[in-house]
Amino acid sequence: MRQDQFFYCASCSTQFLWTPAEQQGDSQPPAHCPACRYLLPADGRRRGLVKFYSLRKQWGFVTQPDGAELFFHRSALAPGEELPLHEGELVEHAVQPSPRGPQAVDLSRLLLTDEPR
Ligand SMILES: [Zn+2]
Repeated sequence: MRQDQFFYCASCSTQFLWTPAEQQGDSQPPAHCPACRYLLPADGRRRGLVKFYSLRKQWGFVTQPDGAELFFHRSALAPGEELPLHEGELVEHAVQPSPRGPQAVDLSRLLLTDEPR
């Protein structure tokens, strides 16, 4: 029989509950508390801010938290994302190597609202 289990978040050390309902969906307990899961990017993805995007050239740059800047092309936008992207918008993306260095791909906006997703 499943019962509530408690774990400590790998990021902020807060104790969090792993409910029987969640245990049914996942075989492994999550490493992070619900707040950190909401705030941290998904596995293999990173977050950054749009430095600029040129509608005319159809490319732009994303500034990473460490200050590095990643190129992205219009074709790297996730399905459903609309142009233009604006300076300062928070985005999440994967990183893919290219002959000219790493690029941001599968790029999607993060909406900072409480609306259900
Ligand atoms: Zn946490």
